[in-house]
Amino acid sequence: MEKARKDRKDMRYTIPDYYRQFRCAAGQCEDTCCAGWQIQIDERSLGRYARLKGRAGRKLRRSIRWRQRIFRQKEGKRCVFLNQDNLCDMYTELGEKSLCRTCRLYPRHIEEFEGIREITLSLSCPVVARLLMNREEPAAFPACEKDGEEEYEEFDLLLYSALADAREVILDILQNRAVPAQAREQRMLALADEVEKNYMEGALFSCQELFDAPGRAEAAGKPGGAENNEARMGRRFCFMKKMFAFLDTLELLREDWKSCLDETRALLYSQADAGYAATCLEFGAWMKRYMPMWEIQSEQILVYFISVYFCGAVYDGRISAKAKLAAVSRMIIEEMLMARWIKNEKTLDTEDIVETVYRYAREVEHSDKNVNRLESLMEKVPSNLTSYVSGFVPPCTV
Ligand code: SF4
Repeated sequence: MEKARKDRKDMRYTIPDYYRQFRCAAGQCEDTCCAGWQIQIDERSLGRYARLKGRAGRKLRRSIRWRQRIFRQKEGKRCVFLNQDNLCDMYTELGEKSLCRTCRLYPRHIEEFEGIREITLSLSCPVVARLLMNREEPAAFPACEKDGEEEYEEFDLLLYSALADAREVILDILQNRAVPAQAREQRMLALADEVEKNYMEGALFSCQELFDAPGRAEAAGKPGGAENNEARMGRRFCFMKKMFAFLDTLELLREDWKSCLDETRALLYSQADAGYAATCLEFGAWMKRYMPMWEIQSEQILVYFISVYFCGAVYDGRISAKAKLAAVSRMIIEEMLMARWIKNEKTLDTEDIVETVYRYAREVEHSDKNVNRLESLMEKVPSNLTSYVSGFVPPCTV
């Protein structure tokens, strides 16, 4: 571990290339972020609110639950400042600077490492989900440098630089559209698994060989042939059924999320596994024909989860679990879409995908407890996950 560093140096920022296209829909938003969640107020803003004078100050102070450090909520878990037009009264009366850090930043998400700040947009915002789900070009993450100063007590620079290199290789793998999607996902999982093994064995320096020839890592998890398809569908049935039972035990952020889970369970897992396999195949064929963008949207979802969370393994060593969570998140979204397709009498459109994506991200990403429990679970899941439980489309031969 590196010891504390106090020298002045440049700060490196990475920002996705679609970042500047984001515009908050404000009063027009179909699912405002100012309802449903408890908004946590940061220390600095609390201090400002406590000192604010006059009528506005008194109103503000009455609107806070001081012990929990959150804004009070009205009926429907709406923030006390959210008016009938779905606009924020605090913003209107006191200006943008009056907002607490959470409200000022959302949907921007910041991951910090020594000398590096990675800024992304959270998929839990419908506008961001729509931006990504309608985007055909691969996402890019340009970097720039600015003056700055950072102090970190302990930071494993060696691990971070291995993770950053691995992430670059993984993003290349995921965005290589010459290779079928299932094989790309499998290569990502295999590579993350190998990096973690090297890390555990104290052999991070060996990772360079993997990065130079990432194909080597996939041999163990290479998808099987067509003869395994039925068995894999059966495994997928068991795996997803358990996954949805597990999702039910997570912290619930929005009441209506529970009915989405119940509905998916009732539509998909109350049937026998043979019925489920037939549904999967029919849905897979329908998606290929009518929603060919799903392959690109799946790529965008994987790229999102890897770009945002993978390097966070520098703090907890859960390298493989982060890659598995990206793959499982994509699969959970796919399952929920299949249930919705059944409910919609076998049809879907892009807005169904946008809604499913942002609602999943809201429940999972906005609870540290949920992310932590899911990553712990992922540590027990086999790393050849994708070939183990199979995709909907016939297995690839790459
Ligand atoms: S969810 Fe996104 S678009 Fe909607 S109000 Fe919040 S930031 Fe704006």
